[in-house]
Amino acid sequence: MILSPLISLQSTLMPSLQVLLSAQQIQARIESLAAEIDRDYAGEPVYLIGILKGAFIFLADLARTMKTPTRIEFIGISSYGGGTSSSGEVRLTRDLDVTVEGKHVVLIEDIVDTGITLAYLLKLMEQRKPATLRVATFLDKPERRVRPVTVNYSGFVIPDKFVVGYGLDFAEDYRNLRDVCILGD
Ligand code: 5GP
Repeated sequence: MILSPLISLQSTLMPSLQVLLSAQQIQARIESLAAEIDRDYAGEPVYLIGILKGAFIFLADLARTMKTPTRIEFIGISSYGGGTSSSGEVRLTRDLDVTVEGKHVVLIEDIVDTGITLAYLLKLMEQRKPATLRVATFLDKPERRVRPVTVNYSGFVIPDKFVVGYGLDFAEDYRNLRDVCILGD
């Protein structure tokens, strides 16, 4: 195939991707996280509430690996507005369709960074009076925390790098990568 000059110019401008967590590492960790959650809920039904959009793949893999009966809901949040650092402003873009009062709820996050998004969501969910409220995050960047938040289940603690893949994006690209990669220049 002959590449046009435009395509080859674009490819030289593409940011680099360095694998941080392979698909195999991720799947192994999902198995152990699912087992931990199953042990804790001992067959009690749980609402898994995925935070859109980044958590959709983590939620799908976790839910299919867990044995606990689950119901799946989504909540929409916007905080990054297309860049690689948080604007610090959290907006609810899609609310739940159900009431979770008296139910066991696990919020499913893609990554906890400053903790601002999670602090906002925990406050919002507490007002809805669930029986229990916990947090499962795929990734955790504790170095960047500005709001103290409790994370009950954490997939991987990672360094302060901007990562993409396995649901996480940069300006809506890269969500479908099977590995988690560090995005470089
Ligand atoms: P926080 O409010 O904790 O600073 O940020 C949480 C949100 O910021 C995450 O749900 C995610 O959407 C975004 N975020 C934080 N760090 C990263 C990162 O390294 N990569 C990507 N793609 N998003 C991130």
